[in-house]
Amino acid sequence: LFSAVEMAPRDPILGLNEQFAADTNPHKVNLGVGVYYDDNGKLPLLECVKKAEADMMKAPSARGYLPIDGIAAYDNAVKALVFGADSEPVKSGRVATIQALGGTGGLKVGADFLKKLSPSAKVLISDPSWENHRALFAQAGFEVGSYAYYDAAKRGIDFDGMLAALQGAAAGTIVVLHACCHNPTGYDLTPAQWDQVVEVVKARQLTPFLDMAYQGFGFGIAEDGAVIGKFVAAGLTFFVSTSFSKSFSLYGERVGALSVLCESKEEAARVLSQLKIMIRTNYSNPPTHGGAVVAAVLGNPELRALWEQELGEMRVRIKAMRQKLVDGLKAAGVKQDMGFITSQIGMFSYSGLTKDQMVRLRNEFGVYGTDTGRMCVAALNSKNIEHVCASIAKVV
Ligand code: PMP
Repeated sequence: LFSAVEMAPRDPILGLNEQFAADTNPHKVNLGVGVYYDDNGKLPLLECVKKAEADMMKAPSARGYLPIDGIAAYDNAVKALVFGADSEPVKSGRVATIQALGGTGGLKVGADFLKKLSPSAKVLISDPSWENHRALFAQAGFEVGSYAYYDAAKRGIDFDGMLAALQGAAAGTIVVLHACCHNPTGYDLTPAQWDQVVEVVKARQLTPFLDMAYQGFGFGIAEDGAVIGKFVAAGLTFFVSTSFSKSFSLYGERVGALSVLCESKEEAARVLSQLKIMIRTNYSNPPTHGGAVVAAVLGNPELRALWEQELGEMRVRIKAMRQKLVDGLKAAGVKQDMGFITSQIGMFSYSGLTKDQMVRLRNEFGVYGTDTGRMCVAALNSKNIEHVCASIAKVV
C-alpha cells in the first residue's frame, strides 16, 4: 500500500526548527518561526493565563465533550473582540462563531465550508503570504492564485497591483486578506487603502476571508480590529479567522475561532449548522482547556485588563527590538539604510536579504530566518541582538 508513497518536502518553517534544534552553535538564534519570546529568550506564560488557571484549579472540573461549536462564553468573547461588544452585528445576532483549533483550524473549517458552498470559486492570497494559506486552501480543493502585495524595490506594498488583481477577479472569488501585521512582510495597508480594497471587494462581489492572527500586535486591540469595522460598514458578509496562539502565548493549546458575518440572525443559524457539520466530521468538537482559559480571561474585567497590559508589553518590546536592530546594524557597519525595519509592524521583518545570505547566516553564524529573508523580530532580545547584527553585517 505504501511502497509508492513519496517523501513529502519538509515544512519550510517547522523544518527550520528541526535544523535549529540539531545545531550545536552556542550562539544560535531562532528567528525562523513566528513565536514571541521575552527578553530572556523564554516563551512567556502570561500572568493573566496563570491567574485564570489558578482559579480553575481551585474547583477542578471534569472534562466532558464540549458542544461542537465550542464553549458559548468563548464564542461570545471572540465575537465581542472581533466585531465590538456593542456592534450592530453582535447585537443583531448575525455572526456565526465557532471555537477552532488555532487560527489554522478556523481557516480550514471556513475553507471546507466555502468549498461546499462555492465549489468552483477560486482563492486569491497575497504574494507573498503565510506559507500555509496556499497549502490549506489547495488541500480544501481550491485553485489558489495570488494578488500582488510586496514590492521589493519600493520596500512596501504594490497597492496598484493589488487593486488591479482584485478588480480583475471574477465575482465570487475568495480573497484571503491579512487583517493586520502581514505575515511575512510586516507591511500593512493604510486605513485609506483598506477603504479602497473594501470598495473593490464590494463592487466585484468578492468573498473576503480576513485572517486575524495578530490582533493587538499592530497598534492595539481596537485599532487592529478597525479593519473589520470597515467591511461591516460596507454591508458585506465575510469570514474572519482568529488566533490566540500569539496574543495569549498559548501556541500549544490550539485556541482560535472562525466567525462568519451573515445578513441576518436566521441566516447565521443556518451557516452555523453547516459549520458544525464540517467540525463534526473532522474532529467532532474542540478541546476544553485553552478555550476555557481564554474565555475566563476575556470574561473577567480584571484579567482582561491584565491581558491587554501584557499584550501591550509584547507589542512595545517588539517595536523596541526593531529600533535596536536598525541601530545595531548601523553600528555593526551595515552601510545600506535599514530604517524600513521600523516601518514594518507585527512579529516579522522582511529583511530584503537574499536566499544565499540567509543560508550563510544559518550555516556560518547559527542565525535562523526563512530563505525568503523573513526574520521574527519578536525573538530578538538584548542578549542575542549583537550577534544577529554582527552576523548580518558579515553577509550583506
Ligand atoms: N495566519 C497567519 C497569518 C499566521 O501567521 C498564523 C500563525 N503563524 C496562523 C494563521 C495560524 O495560527 P495558529 O498557530 O493559531 O494556527
